[in-house]
Amino acid sequence: MKIDFNKNIDGLVPAIIQDVQTKNVLMLGYMNEEAFNKTKELNKVTFYSRSKKRLWTKGEESGNYLSLVDIKLDCDNDTLLIQVNPSGPTCHKGSDTCWNEDNTQTFGFISQLEDIIKDRKENSSSEDSYVASLFEKGMNKIAQKVGEEAVEVVIEAKDDNDDLFISESADLLFHYLILLQAKGFQMEDVIKELKKRH
Ligand code: AMP
Ligand code: ZN
Ligand code: ZN
Ligand code: ZN
Repeated sequence: MKIDFNKNIDGLVPAIIQDVQTKNVLMLGYMNEEAFNKTKELNKVTFYSRSKKRLWTKGEESGNYLSLVDIKLDCDNDTLLIQVNPSGPTCHKGSDTCWNEDNTQTFGFISQLEDIIKDRKENSSSEDSYVASLFEKGMNKIAQKVGEEAVEVVIEAKDDNDDLFISESADLLFHYLILLQAKGFQMEDVIKELKKRH
């Protein structure tokens, strides 16, 4: 790895710290060559602290170390992306990331859909939202819808119309997300359970 430590006059390169599991950015720090070497030696992220003016192993006081998993160098060799497993909240103010975020796993568009479903549940009326109307009808109706869509998936699985199979699969997943929400859960809870068995 040929890092260009001399692009900046202070010999520092920015190091973006990313949680390898959730892919969230946890913090940004700076490394000189010595900090980079120390990071690899300890397997714990070590910066050059511009305020302390010395090497700083993140977690040295708090115990909230950043255990090294992988280091990637950007296209023009002047910025590091460091993937880690954090042993606690990364920010010294107590939050998971330095932007006051929770370091939770998100599932892209599925998570977006979950947010919309939650919003419809809390803020919409059954006249202008199908999702709100399902919540109004209650748990039995929602569970029944999931059952129906599951049966439709089974039926289409036996055919060979791919479009219908995908369409019914989308119906099933969508209504399942509504059922999870109605039960007070999210996709994250199901994934956690799957990971436990893995
Ligand atoms: P730590 O490295 O977690 O033991 O924290 C030692 C000191 O480093 C703290 O008291 C802060 O001054 C500073 N510090 C820790 N974490 C951060 C951070 N994520 N961003 C900036 N400064 C930090
Ligand atoms: Zn660059
Ligand atoms: Zn912070
Ligand atoms: Zn359907």
